[in-house]
Amino acid sequence: MRKKIVAGNWKMNMNLQDGIALAKELNETLTAEKPNCGVIICTPFIHLASIAQLLDQDVIGLGAENCADKEKGAYTGEVSAEMVKSTGAQYVILGHSERRGYYGETPEILKEKVLLALKNGLKVIFCIGESLEEREANKQNEVVKAELEGSVFNLSAEEFKNIIIAYEPIWAIGTGKTATAEQAEEIHAYIRSVVAEHYGEAVADDTTILYGGSCKASNAPELFAKPDIDGGLIGGASLKAADFKGIIDAWK
Ligand code: 13P
Repeated sequence: MRKKIVAGNWKMNMNLQDGIALAKELNETLTAEKPNCGVIICTPFIHLASIAQLLDQDVIGLGAENCADKEKGAYTGEVSAEMVKSTGAQYVILGHSERRGYYGETPEILKEKVLLALKNGLKVIFCIGESLEEREANKQNEVVKAELEGSVFNLSAEEFKNIIIAYEPIWAIGTGKTATAEQAEEIHAYIRSVVAEHYGEAVADDTTILYGGSCKASNAPELFAKPDIDGGLIGGASLKAADFKGIIDAWK
């Protein structure tokens, strides 16, 4: 059975003190009342080491939002996968549309990042998804397939087990516009079929595919009820413990 997961992506929103306070609150709430799904929080680099110390990582996993495409050396300002791992984090988000769009991360760069993350024992939440223009031209399937082929389908089936896919239509991120549960299910089922074509049915069945884009407590139950939607990658609604918990509770 594949894992159901609710993951938060804090993005660039909280200073260290606010991030620690939120992590403490989540840890208290979720260790008292164990969630029915895997929970992960992905935070800015600066939060990782402090939060790793206070989280019960059997209940809440910890991840970074990015890592470098180089192993180590003179790359001022970069943070390597090995450095992320040394904080106590277990996950890293790669391929987010904000990184692809604002920071020019190409499929080749992402391929390197994925390899380095896996080499250093991190699990990867790999984001894919189409723009509004591509959706309007009915190119969403083509786009997500190419994104998988470009950066993760080079992996062996064994390596691919460490990949969680997050489908995030760019037009739904931070816009308040969610894909309907039907739209999301259709493309999640397609993504699973593409994974099956490449790695076989058994691997596809075990692959967790998250939905991201204006997911909140009010729409999560309908989205998560779909057979190929295994949870969510949550931006805005992961910044307050009550909002995030509301989404986690959709698995009850
Ligand atoms: P929002 O939930 O704020 O739309 O962000 C989604 C996202 O980009 C998660 O990675």
